[in-house]
Amino acid sequence: MSENKNRSVIANEKIDNSKLTNAAKIILRLQQELKKYINKGYGPFMAAVYDDNGNLIARAVNSVVNKSCSNNHAEMNAIRLAEKKLGTYDLSKYNLSLYVTSEPCMMCLGGIMWSGIKAVYYGVSSKRVTKITGFDEGFKPKWFDEFKKRGITVYGQIEQDAGEQVLQDYVAQGHTIYKPNR
Ligand SMILES: [Zn+2]
Repeated sequence: MSENKNRSVIANEKIDNSKLTNAAKIILRLQQELKKYINKGYGPFMAAVYDDNGNLIARAVNSVVNKSCSNNHAEMNAIRLAEKKLGTYDLSKYNLSLYVTSEPCMMCLGGIMWSGIKAVYYGVSSKRVTKITGFDEGFKPKWFDEFKKRGITVYGQIEQDAGEQVLQDYVAQGHTIYKPNR
């Protein structure tokens, strides 16, 4: 695992600054847009799928509470939309990247693996998400290494401060915390 000490970014490959700069831009934008969706009853997580040329394929927000579905996490919703749009269950040939405002939970790691997504960039770490919100993110032993073995690049803890603020506001505003860490 390589680490960029200044920005506390972690990755399962040597950090490529152009990928990181691009991911920071996208994740900051998602965090901004997410605030509007939270006010409409959505959960505090947002994800987007992009191709190598920077084209947006799909974008989605966590809709567990407002759509009454426990697996409607932002990552799962975005992957589902991308597959529908491209008409395939296997995204691997499109070389797509998933950007998400917080670290994927154990369900979403499985969903990402099955989808054929080739790279994951996330904001707030699960440890911080759990601490701030109380959501139970699940157990995920050595997932950076496991993804590397499967050819999936991971960069994490990108623009974490801005992401934490969104989560803190979600809690302060009294929105629903489902399946809390017990
Ligand atoms: Zn999830």
